[in-house]
Amino acid sequence: MSKCIILLGPPGAGKGTQAARLAEQLNIPAVSTGDIFRANVAERTELGQRAQRYMDAGEYVPDEVTNAMVADRLAQPDAAEGFLLDGYPRTGVQVAELDRMLTEAGKNLDAVVELTAGTDEVIARLLGRAAEQGRSDDTEDVIRRRMQVYAEQTAPLTSVYEERGLLVQVDGLGAVDEVTERILAALNPRLHHAPGHDAAGPRE
Ligand code: ADP
Repeated sequence: MSKCIILLGPPGAGKGTQAARLAEQLNIPAVSTGDIFRANVAERTELGQRAQRYMDAGEYVPDEVTNAMVADRLAQPDAAEGFLLDGYPRTGVQVAELDRMLTEAGKNLDAVVELTAGTDEVIARLLGRAAEQGRSDDTEDVIRRRMQVYAEQTAPLTSVYEERGLLVQVDGLGAVDEVTERILAALNPRLHHAPGHDAAGPRE
């Protein structure tokens, strides 16, 4: 049975860190649109060239570019048994496109995890990361713009998934390990106790 999970949350909530750990625990690939875009920018691919100016300004890359990239990635063999999406979908159009891709692949979403963290905390974290890693979109102005774009375009998606009964909210504050444990605990009933299955039995 495949596992399809979305990780939502504002910039700086720790999605990337948690996505890598969860993917390992759950044995599915983490698909981070931000990482894929950054790799393409670094390699100066055509996709990278199309995405870079949006990323540097803290704006979303246009839906058609992002959707095509994700469709390609999810068609790779390692995603056949499921995936953890980090940073996608972020707009209503992307939600609809993901629904279409899942239907086409005969898959269902198991859960949408919203990692929560307050504005002051995420800005402090992102400024800290800027000092360490120098990501080009981690300047204070661009961070504020990313937060604003998240609030306008992506935060409303939580209610879409809540209405579908898929949303799980997890507090993103605390030690990295603790947050991973919290997410796994929240996911556990959704991944193992599907109706008609023996809740205590092995999953595969
Ligand atoms: P963060 O969530 O911390 O802002 P990401 O690494 O997830 O960082 O994304 C970095 C940038 O990549 C975004 O600001 C945006 O320009 C682009 N991006 C990533 N995912 C998407 C997406 N689903 N749709 C549009 N743009 C995206």
